[in-house]
Amino acid sequence: MNFELTKEQKEVVQAARKFARGEFPDRARDFDREESFDVAIRKKACDLGFVGAFIEPEYDGAGYGLFEQALICEEFFAVDPGIGLAILSASFGAELIQLYGTDHQKREVLPRIAAGEAVIGTAITEPDAGSDVTAASTTAVRDGDDWVLNGTKMFITNGVGADYILVFCQTDPDQESRHQRHSFLLVPTETAGYSATKIHGKLGIRASETAEVVLKDARVPGDRLVGKQGAGFKQLMAFFNLTRIHVCAQAVGLARGALEEAVRHTQGRRQFGAPLASFQATQFKLAEMATRIRAARNLYYEAAWQADNGKLDHALVAMAKWFAGKVAVDCADEALQMHGGYGYIDEYKVQRLYRDAKIMEIYEGTKEVEKLIVARSLLC
Ligand SMILES: Cc1cc2nc3c(=O)[nH]c(=O)nc-3n(C[C@H](O)[C@H](O)[C@H](O)COP(=O)(O)OP(=O)(O)OC[C@H]3O[C@@H](n4cnc5c(N)ncnc54)[C@H](O)[C@@H]3O)c2cc1C
Repeated sequence: MNFELTKEQKEVVQAARKFARGEFPDRARDFDREESFDVAIRKKACDLGFVGAFIEPEYDGAGYGLFEQALICEEFFAVDPGIGLAILSASFGAELIQLYGTDHQKREVLPRIAAGEAVIGTAITEPDAGSDVTAASTTAVRDGDDWVLNGTKMFITNGVGADYILVFCQTDPDQESRHQRHSFLLVPTETAGYSATKIHGKLGIRASETAEVVLKDARVPGDRLVGKQGAGFKQLMAFFNLTRIHVCAQAVGLARGALEEAVRHTQGRRQFGAPLASFQATQFKLAEMATRIRAARNLYYEAAWQADNGKLDHALVAMAKWFAGKVAVDCADEALQMHGGYGYIDEYKVQRLYRDAKIMEIYEGTKEVEKLIVARSLLC
């Protein structure tokens, strides 16, 4: 398979790279230290069409494929994963609206996300339901024309700052199959009974906001149901197949950023009368990092290409996700090691990358869950 990027895709890469290199480096360390972010940067990214780039032109988006959105992820995360996530997560869930939402939901939400006027998040995880999403116990009960939601969601990206949260909740608890009990409801965060508390002290991606969300008798109109009632699990699996490819691209970007730091440092730093980069032990490490990054990129390119061409292979997506996550963690580790003591302090970007990398093996499906998916495809 030939993955030569098209002229337009190369332009997307160049534009995303230029934007990230221009906007992120001066702010990254402060955002990381202060667990903060400047939404003006996100607005600029929206104005350039980087956020929700997959949103169709009919809804004011750039109308790119999953592939192009992944290319943007790689470029942003190569410069700073925390800022990259704070920007690009603003559309986390727009995929579900575009795929399954009503025309009214699409018109209400998608143009606002593309324009940077609204942020959406998706709340699946709960204190007692993480990898096992079917255990999600948040309920939505019909009361007249409305839905009334109750439950607690954990680790929700943009839980405080979002305008909408897509809540994965039980609408059909009596269904025999655990896969037919849940639905997605589009909840405006201004709804009475919605509250969110920011979680502090994350290891990495600290520019991105993460929250615990509580829904207490939160009432939304019946037309907030996204797609078919009871189809939430099926929709979630389709959603993860798309967003996991983006996480692969995030991980590849991060690993590339780590390699760039390693190359720069080992060429400048001298020990035993010579640059670190002149030692074969260093060269082997750099060569291995570059090879792993290339392999991970090829996996996500293939998965994204398949997804955009109606041939999505969920086992390939799972392979790409766990592999890219490991590449990110390993490359950040090696890059820090090559920095010696300097890599251990936060004045050096590599320390941030080392901390940021771990999430790639956790969110949107842990590496263990991804391997289970791959194994299931082999053993069925
Ligand atoms: C920064 C951050 C942002 C996040 N953003 C969001 C968000 O926006 N929306 C959202 O819904 N969630 C979000 N999450 C939650 C994330 O998706 C979950 O943390 C993840 O799915 C794992 O769930 P858990 O933490 O409950 O771990 P658990 O499911 O408790 O897993 C703990 C460990 O056990 C392993 N394990 C579990 N089951 C098995 C099994 N059957 N076989 C082998 N090993 C197993 C796991 O792989 C893991 O290593 C976020 C998390 C973080 C940290």
